Amino acid sequence: MMNVLVLNVGSATLKFQVVATDADRMRDDRDVRLIRGQIERIGGESVITLRGADGIARTRTAPLRDLRTAVEWLVAFITSPESGTGLTSRSDLHAVGHRVVHGGEQFQRSVAIDRAVLHAIEDTIELAPLHNPHNLRGIEAARAALGATVPQVAVFDTAFHHSMPEYAYLYAIPYPLYRRHKVRRYGFHGTSHRSIAYRWRTLTARPRADVRIITLHLGNGCSACAIAGGESIDTSMGFTPLEGLVMGTRSGDIDAALLDYIAAKEGLTLPQVEALLNNQSGLLGISGLTNDMRDLLAEAQEHDDRRARLAIEIFCYRARKYIGAYLAAMGGADAIVFAGGIGENSPEIRRRICDGLQWAGLHVEPQANAMLVDGREGCFSTTTSTLAAWVVPTDEELLIARDTVRVVSGLEPA
Ligand code: ADP
Repeated sequence: MMNVLVLNVGSATLKFQVVATDADRMRDDRDVRLIRGQIERIGGESVITLRGADGIARTRTAPLRDLRTAVEWLVAFITSPESGTGLTSRSDLHAVGHRVVHGGEQFQRSVAIDRAVLHAIEDTIELAPLHNPHNLRGIEAARAALGATVPQVAVFDTAFHHSMPEYAYLYAIPYPLYRRHKVRRYGFHGTSHRSIAYRWRTLTARPRADVRIITLHLGNGCSACAIAGGESIDTSMGFTPLEGLVMGTRSGDIDAALLDYIAAKEGLTLPQVEALLNNQSGLLGISGLTNDMRDLLAEAQEHDDRRARLAIEIFCYRARKYIGAYLAAMGGADAIVFAGGIGENSPEIRRRICDGLQWAGLHVEPQANAMLVDGREGCFSTTTSTLAAWVVPTDEELLIARDTVRVVSGLEPA
């Protein structure tokens, strides 16, 4: 049995879990989550939220000036009696699994981190300047806290999408741009889509080879993925996470000619326009109120706010268009599977996305739909539907822990 520390490092936030698992446990879904939580506001008076095996959240604060200090604090806490993990020394942490956003074209699966891998992740900074530097600092911080002998594994958000065919990942722009600068669709949220698809196959006892599903990860970031035979064959995010569905603050698909036009009209630089599309668009941009779907639904219902309604409508319409596209790409599908904060908690949004897919054989069972909130999993289409609709909560951290054990123990990749 291995105790794996899973780290997901963002710009000012560190999400973590400790999972105890091995080959037998992961096969039977008996992995044990010893603790999970997050550290926010690193760099000042940090807020730490912790959930032990009982699932109850406890909050505390500590002055954590940088990521290294935060990881050091975390490792000390996890191995203290106060944590309730039962771990008593640092040597009880056997490996570390890191979420790494961009693996470029090189990383097609999870890998043990050595010097060459570190250099390769550094080489992809150009492709993911907002994310990979944080992930690299996380790797350094874990090494400082646990020593160089504790194995560390990188699990890439892009890796699952490596199975996309050329015709799906290439943009129709001059081909030398791909050769010279690696301009192509990479896709993100791969660990999430893989986790959802794997769990759905387990729940439905379907063999990997003859499954076609469309997974929708709808959180702050949103993406759709067409999965055939267990492999991603297309996905909505592209060269960066900006493309595709409407998201909390990201526009998703737009006409590329708009960048220059908006820059000229608003007196902005191109990087400023890109920031506007990433940070001020999507649900927030249309509504002018919030990027939070829960608040938008409340505004639309309580005050009948026109722009809140419009934001929700555009969000659902875009998602439905992608489902249509992926049904065409795969020649049909067995199921649409929802996940992410919105996908797992909002029967209303699920209903509105599925409405209008009756032609494809999808009929929503309202009562089943209403029940699927707060982490519950299940099917919410009628028994006669030929295209099923499911909710399967994503569990990226568990997949990272399992991949870490697989890589460290030399097991076959899943
Ligand atoms: P992230 O992508 O950052 O991991 P989450 O997956 O937690 O984010 O999703 C956050 C989104 O989920 C927010 O837009 C939030 O409003 C939405 N959400 C959470 N609960 C509900 C709910 N009950 N109804 C509608 N939206 C919800």
